[in-house]
Amino acid sequence: MNSNIKALDTGFVLRADKIEKHFANIEVLRGISLEAKRGDVISLIGASGSGKSTFLRCLNFLEIPTGGTVTIRGETHQASDALSRSRASKQKLRQLRREVGMVFQSFNLWPHMTAAENVMEGPVRVLKEPPKAARSRALDLLARVGLSERADYRPSQLSGGQQQRVAIARALAMNPDVLLFDEPTSALDPELVGEVLAVMTDLAKEGRTMLIVTHEIAFARDVSSKMIFLRKGLVEEEGPPRDLIASPKSEELQRFLARMR
Ligand code: ADP
Ligand code: MG
Repeated sequence: MNSNIKALDTGFVLRADKIEKHFANIEVLRGISLEAKRGDVISLIGASGSGKSTFLRCLNFLEIPTGGTVTIRGETHQASDALSRSRASKQKLRQLRREVGMVFQSFNLWPHMTAAENVMEGPVRVLKEPPKAARSRALDLLARVGLSERADYRPSQLSGGQQQRVAIARALAMNPDVLLFDEPTSALDPELVGEVLAVMTDLAKEGRTMLIVTHEIAFARDVSSKMIFLRKGLVEEEGPPRDLIASPKSEELQRFLARMR
């Protein structure tokens, strides 16, 4: 059976099953599971050091989990695949990374390339798109994030909010099934946060499947269909964001939310 059909059958775009991650003798993730259906927007909250970034990185195997599996489009990935040097395993890993896009706190744009070149790079190098077509698509994507006028600027000539919007366009250019955001507005001056959140809200409305690590609780409440509170490498509490925020059950979440106010 074709993997697209399998993914539709289960109804899930992404499923993480009991993800564990140890660094030497530190247990950072202690068995985290989640399922995202197409169009789900899931927010991940939790104190610094609770494992949010490590979990996101495990979902596309930027960090190889020490236990558990990630299933996307009906294909299941586990550590043994990623550690194997076989051609099939490497191909599978490339496929996973293509299907799961990532936007980082620190933008991570290539400084020597213009905005348009940053967006085209993946499609040209990885997807082997002809440069002309890739550039035209890059310009469309930059227009979607409100940056038509900035296509030929380098990152150093752009504000933080503009750089992050280029980074979002770059992630979209790979047509990922799922987009992961790791505190996308934490490095921004307060007056630039809104423009990035507005772009993310549009993506959510378009039905993109997204996982968002954020400290912007009001944004997370408004945009996400589900909220997960991580604590010490475990899911402490999860549910509809309004319920979690209005009536947190665990003392830890109560304290965390009180600190956010
Ligand atoms: P969060 O994003 O929630 O702040 P992280 O996932 O960055 O948390 O980190 C969770 C814990 O894992 C922290 O205690 C951190 O020090 C540890 N950690 C993360 N990456 C590494 C690493 N490469 N080596 C050792 N410890 C790590
Ligand atoms: Mg983090």
